[in-house]
Amino acid sequence: MIRIAVVGGGASGLVAAIVAAKAGAVVTLFEKGRGLGRKILASGGGRCNLGNAGVDASHYHGGDRGFVRSVLSRFGHAESLAFFEGLGLMTIQEPDGRLFPRSSQARSVLSVLESRLNLSGADIRINREVKAVRPGPRGFVVEAEGGGCEADAVVLACGGCSCPKLGGGEGGLRLARSLGLSVVEPFPSLVPLVSKDPWVRKLQGVRVAAALSAHVDGRQVAASRGELLFTAYGVSGPASLDLSREVCLAIGRQVECSLNLFPEFSHAELEKFFLARLRALLPLSPAALLRGAIPEEVAEVYLAGRAKEIPLHESPTEDAVLGLARGLSAWKFSVCGPRPWEEAMVTAGGVRLAEVSPETMEARSRKGLYVTGELLDVDGDSGGYNLHFAWATGFLAGTSCSGKKC
Ligand SMILES: Cc1cc2nc3c(=O)[nH]c(=O)nc-3n(C[C@H](O)[C@H](O)[C@H](O)COP(=O)(O)OP(=O)(O)OC[C@H]3O[C@@H](n4cnc5c(N)ncnc54)[C@H](O)[C@@H]3O)c2cc1C
Repeated sequence: MIRIAVVGGGASGLVAAIVAAKAGAVVTLFEKGRGLGRKILASGGGRCNLGNAGVDASHYHGGDRGFVRSVLSRFGHAESLAFFEGLGLMTIQEPDGRLFPRSSQARSVLSVLESRLNLSGADIRINREVKAVRPGPRGFVVEAEGGGCEADAVVLACGGCSCPKLGGGEGGLRLARSLGLSVVEPFPSLVPLVSKDPWVRKLQGVRVAAALSAHVDGRQVAASRGELLFTAYGVSGPASLDLSREVCLAIGRQVECSLNLFPEFSHAELEKFFLARLRALLPLSPAALLRGAIPEEVAEVYLAGRAKEIPLHESPTEDAVLGLARGLSAWKFSVCGPRPWEEAMVTAGGVRLAEVSPETMEARSRKGLYVTGELLDVDGDSGGYNLHFAWATGFLAGTSCSGKKC
């Protein structure tokens, strides 16, 4: 019988272990933490956004979109739905395509994975950190706290560096390097951004629906759309998280974000809209012009900063209104960097994709060694893409290492 060791009991490791055990392999799963799937439990604000109907390679970054395309062609949204339905999970899809458990509880996702793993007869070793993986008579020797095992194949499913309290760290990359795999230096992604601009901090706690673009040395490098949350240190929420990868790549250079509070209007439409409002509602104050369109705190902070151009207690002129339309669709703030690894949702960088077969996740240079999930040099946008990639690569590795064809 084939013996498989899975290093890491997170999203991709659980799927790899379930699939390999179902195919008849003898599976030992090592998890260094005190429980399985800790990031699954924390995901989606406790709701677990486990996938997205719009999953395709354009939502992923890192080494090679061709690699991601190949993975998704074997395990796309339909395959993910079928897999979780097979485990008994009921899901719902939100209008924007994001997939959640119907219960809105991340615990449901982990429960169906854990139950199936328990039924599979896999040997699950919790609180057992793998310290080394070495070549051995059977293929590999896995050295772990409290005792290891021998294996024909090893799945490295150790995740990335983000969120150390949920199992993140550089350990997986160290294991990969020790087995001869090369690594793209990791950096945080989907991470909140720090801004020292006082107006940003004044809006702490306020949420807006917006479009955001990041500019490095005056050149636009990324754009996103979604909810933006102002915080005590800067900004968070999907709109800023989705830009953070490009911002992290530009640390040390001049980074500025431009906030558009009216992304649903073209520039000309917005001017027309404001002028029509001005004419219809005269006499009105600048604050009244914005009432209901954006949160009042946002209007207050914006207008306080423009009091010279747009006097607060007079009806604005047409020129002032046109200036307001321009300003609110390109409100700039500087960014000095990302928040620390503790607050990053994912890791960019990781094991170089050229080292791994996109059909099987097996290392090209070492037969029997598989790499999955966030340990690979792939990071997805927010919206369920990272968990999808973890399930998909876990599925391919589990299928292939147990000798089945994908
Ligand atoms: C707060 C938060 C919210 C998120 N929300 C979402 C979301 O809603 N949707 C989404 O798509 N993605 C989300 N993500 C990202 C997603 O959780 C990860 O991309 C995904 O879990 C990666 O799966 P993985 O198997 O590669 O790694 P992980 O799930 O991180 O699992 C790796 C496991 O390996 C263990 N391990 C590491 N080294 C060793 C070792 N040497 N020996 C034994 N065990 C080891 C770790 O303890 C960990 O349990 C979120 C992440 C965070 C932090």
